[in-house]
Amino acid sequence: MNSPFSTDISRHPLADFGWDDDWAAAFAPYAAQGFVPGRVVRVDRGQCDIVTPEGPVRADTEFVTPHDPLRVICTGDWAVVDADGGDPRYVRTYLPRRTSFVRSTSSKRSEGQILAANVDHAVIAVSLAAELDLGRIERFLALAWESGAQPVVVLTKADLVPDAATTAHLVSDVETAAPGVQVLAVSAERGHGIDVLDALLDGTSVLLGQSGAGKSTLANALLGADVMDVHAVRDVDGKGRHTTTTRNLLVLPTGGVLIDTPGLRGVGLFDAEAGVGQVFSEIEALAQGCRFHDCAHDAEPGCAVLAALDDGTLPPRRLDSYRKLLRENQRLAARTDARLRDEMRRVWKMRGAQGRAAMEAKRGRLG
Ligand code: GDP
Ligand code: ZN
Repeated sequence: MNSPFSTDISRHPLADFGWDDDWAAAFAPYAAQGFVPGRVVRVDRGQCDIVTPEGPVRADTEFVTPHDPLRVICTGDWAVVDADGGDPRYVRTYLPRRTSFVRSTSSKRSEGQILAANVDHAVIAVSLAAELDLGRIERFLALAWESGAQPVVVLTKADLVPDAATTAHLVSDVETAAPGVQVLAVSAERGHGIDVLDALLDGTSVLLGQSGAGKSTLANALLGADVMDVHAVRDVDGKGRHTTTTRNLLVLPTGGVLIDTPGLRGVGLFDAEAGVGQVFSEIEALAQGCRFHDCAHDAEPGCAVLAALDDGTLPPRRLDSYRKLLRENQRLAARTDARLRDEMRRVWKMRGAQGRAAMEAKRGRLG
């Protein structure tokens, strides 16, 4: 009974890991060639750990490590694996991703990095023990929307809020920053609200949020076991130190899987203009009513966004935050473009040099 696989033989052995009819259909041509499907748990040093119907398999990733970092195989991918027998076994390809979480890497090289694939729900954990930072929540929301996953905001540590009315007030504050997104208050400590969250999370979920937000505690509550290390918050401002044992892909007892990779915890914006638009959907909707279709909502006549500011239906904070995230995203995009240009220049230079060297070698041989 401790097997990670369901004992119900009518279910696919990978059903607990998110396998469904659509994945089966996408995999069918490979199945016909004798390949095995599997979900990638982690990738490291040219190899990856995969769960397959035969159990865990370690496979070589040479064929799924292209130059484009966004196309490198990652946790959550559905891999097409060699049948048992070859040594090493190779991942031949992976099924087209439904969603993908990408982060911008260090500030100098703005090259995206793929963090997790095929995520259905992004749980954004926000601590109620600290003052709410709506701007930060909006940033996480932009990331989540951009990935293709459905976000849900979970306000953690609700037991630290003195009364229910205050909690309700905080929830509604966050709701104004999160159109189209469910906002829940939970207390992992007391077990409040965990069942509601549990019911929302089918398929594959990830936990996002600042360090100390209560992600590990939440993960443990969802998993019904102490899998994640929770370290006590030491300082008063809620920025605790923590370490998390790397258990990248975990099956939830009530169905679905949780992906929790270290990288996801420090995720930043990357080319998330569509995501930003979705976070501020009410502003984008208002902009449809502006007289000029390229209205910058600065001082233009007939601007519906400014009109909403004036009549108080749009809080100024929302517009500021929208502009800030758009600017930040544009800076990132520009940096990425500059990096790509530099890269192209380098490649052409190298080719030029190689071409000249080859010509000279040829001449040398001839002469
Ligand atoms: P992470 O860094 O986001 O993974 O946060 P942790 O799960 O490690 O939690 C940070 C701190 O918040 C720990 O000291 C937890 O004990 C505490 N914490 C987490 N959830 C709750 C909760 O529901 N209530 C209270 N009072 N504290 C909590
Ligand atoms: Zn306008």
